[in-house]
Amino acid sequence: MTSAAYLSRAGQKVLLIEKNKECGGLVNSFTRDGFHFDAGVRALIDAGIILPMIKDLGIELEVVKSPVSLGIENEIIHIGNLDSLNEYRELLTKLYPESVNEIDEVLRSIRKVMKHMDVLYGIENPVFKDLKRDRTFVLKKLLPWLPKFIFTVGKINRMNMPVEEYLKTIVKNPSLRDMISQHFFKNTPAFFALSYFSLYLDYFYPKGGVGKLSEALKNKIIECGGEIKTETKIIEVVAEKCLARDQNNITYKYDNLIWAADLKTLYKITKTEGLLPKIRSGFEDVKNNMMKNRGGDSVFSLFLEVDEPLESFRKIAHGHFFYTPSKLGLGETHREELDYLLSNFEKVEKEQIFAWLDKFTRLNTYEISIPGLKDPELVPPGKTGIIISFLAEYDLFSNIQKAGWLDEFISELEKLVLSVISVSVYPMLKDKIIARFSFTPLSIENRVGSSEGAITGWSFQKSMPIINKIQIADRSVLTPVPSIYQAGQWAYSPAGVPMSILTGKLAADKALKQMRKFKNR
Ligand SMILES: Cc1cc2nc3c(=O)[nH]c(=O)nc-3n(C[C@H](O)[C@H](O)[C@H](O)COP(=O)(O)OP(=O)(O)OC[C@H]3O[C@@H](n4cnc5c(N)ncnc54)[C@H](O)[C@@H]3O)c2cc1C
Repeated sequence: MTSAAYLSRAGQKVLLIEKNKECGGLVNSFTRDGFHFDAGVRALIDAGIILPMIKDLGIELEVVKSPVSLGIENEIIHIGNLDSLNEYRELLTKLYPESVNEIDEVLRSIRKVMKHMDVLYGIENPVFKDLKRDRTFVLKKLLPWLPKFIFTVGKINRMNMPVEEYLKTIVKNPSLRDMISQHFFKNTPAFFALSYFSLYLDYFYPKGGVGKLSEALKNKIIECGGEIKTETKIIEVVAEKCLARDQNNITYKYDNLIWAADLKTLYKITKTEGLLPKIRSGFEDVKNNMMKNRGGDSVFSLFLEVDEPLESFRKIAHGHFFYTPSKLGLGETHREELDYLLSNFEKVEKEQIFAWLDKFTRLNTYEISIPGLKDPELVPPGKTGIIISFLAEYDLFSNIQKAGWLDEFISELEKLVLSVISVSVYPMLKDKIIARFSFTPLSIENRVGSSEGAITGWSFQKSMPIINKIQIADRSVLTPVPSIYQAGQWAYSPAGVPMSILTGKLAADKALKQMRKFKNR
């Protein structure tokens, strides 16, 4: 959508093709029984990218702050500013008094990373500025910032190891390590994970739900003369002829194609016959590399319509809440124990899986979002909508679906999550649920077509099939085929909404440059 908005604003003929009825993918909201819910991301991190993009495109979007609370067992803190880091220290030392020195060491690392983040996001991202005209920005902000940026990038790259490994070097207690890191994707780079304290302060929420951002971009594309075709799925790309084909066998001729969806899909459906041998072999190499890699962790989300006013929940935590009901930590529950069940899936009894599920739900960390606490107009009077989610393994859901008992599994999982949350942080949930439903990793795969139901692109591995260094981020949008660009969560790692937007803009810039070069020949 970012690419389409920028290209149509630049006067190009743009067609945005989307397989669903609505645009926006994982930036989406929906309404059920008068309750508004966010289907994907729960709030947005600006990262010096989203708000500058909105400003640059001249988009009106009313936003509010989306403050975060953190809780473990009965201890809950509300993150309001940098001083909240001291409250975090107190929370951890209360729960793990024997580890006070280790906690201080972790906090030192977080503070260091926060300083780096101040540099990284210290100015509006130059990609969204008109550097030719905005001389004040260039002279007063960009030039003084560049040396600091280069210095900081070096520091960041040295903290690229998985957060689990990094924490092992400073924290002996595995439960404490889990409390700090178990809600991050497996092998999240230490820098990215430890930067979350800064990011918590950066969250904002569009009034009306996160989907308002996609709606605003859609309106911008149309206003600038771009065309949008929904319920249209691209199933083949013929690179030599610059043709894309949809499910109804309709073909679309393009000068430049920007693929902003799952990259395994692009590489599977693209025919390269007729292209230069060097391009074809480059394409095959990238394709093989991609097929060897997996999407990162997915999520399970439980949506609740509750007959209880917002005020009851407001007293406990903010509308964006990371909560861990037990300080024991997941340990190997989500990794080795689950790996064992999955590799022996044919042999294990259903009861063993349910026993594992019981433990998993008791020890997990939950991301709880209450849209009404950010915008009270999102719920019927006197009621509350809640979304409870946690990281979930795609293969578990996929195996159970193949074995034919997915509905039973989901129903049990919903019951267990509800029971854990209502005996811990929200006791009022017990008898007040009007309706409940959930999305699994399989729903995400179906909805946005992402491999393994991933929500932020590739799993973190030593060798990534795409660019993962910020200083060369502009190359992330290139594919071996000159007229095809890539953007979105699969084009760069680590990803999320800001990087999806940034790569969208970078792809638009590259395509535009190529078209201008072609025109001037
Ligand atoms: C519960 C949850 C919490 C999250 N929290 C955060 C967070 O805190 N911070 C953060 O930054 N990010 C977060 N994310 C991740 C973030 O939402 C995504 O990384 C981001 O929205 C990806 O955007 P995208 O446009 O690259 O891809 P997508 O949203 O996957 O969009 C791809 C689009 O392409 C369409 N499509 C796919 N295949 C085809 C085809 N063949 N033909 C036509 N159309 C096709 C899809 O329908 C979809 O609309 C979260 C996600 C979830 C689900």
